[in-house]
Amino acid sequence: MTAIADNIRYFDERLRDTPCRLVAVSKTHAPEKVMEAYAAGHRIFGENKVQELLEKRELLPHDIAWHLIGHLQTNKVKHIAQFIDTIQSVDSLKLLMEINKRAEQFNRTFPVNCMLQLSIADEETKFGMNYQEAVDLLQSDEYRSMHFIRITGVMGIATNTGDVQKLRSEFRTLRGYFEQLRETFFFANPDFKEISMGMTSDWELALEEGSTLIRVGSGIFGARDYSKS
Ligand SMILES: *Cc1c(COP(=O)(O)O)cnc(C)c1O
Repeated sequence: MTAIADNIRYFDERLRDTPCRLVAVSKTHAPEKVMEAYAAGHRIFGENKVQELLEKRELLPHDIAWHLIGHLQTNKVKHIAQFIDTIQSVDSLKLLMEINKRAEQFNRTFPVNCMLQLSIADEETKFGMNYQEAVDLLQSDEYRSMHFIRITGVMGIATNTGDVQKLRSEFRTLRGYFEQLRETFFFANPDFKEISMGMTSDWELALEEGSTLIRVGSGIFGARDYSKS
């Protein structure tokens, strides 16, 4: 058994009997490493760049559910709209409209699962909507007329810190947003169920605070080497 397969098995065990699933974040790691996790039974993988995702997908089995977790430019949507399972990083109505349009052009039989990325970290990060922007999006006529996407939940990236109180408070904020949006816009709609939060260093905390999707990279594949890219 390889180290990667071991790690997958570890998370399988830790998440058993929880509502939480693992997104194995394979960015910067070779397809062979993804295959090791795949061979251990894992099927949900996350990438943050379109080009890298396309190159890897080409070489890997097509029953992988790919999640895009990085910022997505509108002009790149067309490259992934045919096959992508989930786009976790939806941060504007304009982007959502493009995803819907391209998915329609490909005549997808299953909608693209989309998650609203909300900013929860205190440093003003470039990406992610605030709560009011998410409300505005969900209230828009444009959103209501979309048939090729469905909103499955929210995603957030916490501050990069070891401060447990701070992390907990950010995770709670995201969960609070999720619950408010669910009550307001998704009453009795079971599609809206995901809270994507938690990475290698803080996934246990995120799980305690109600995460349903943890995004773990180095904790599965080892440290990333950016010098080669
Ligand atoms: C890279 C990345 C992760 C995984 O980070 P690790 O610390 O390696 O687990 C999770 N979420 C996003 C959005 C990322 O870009």
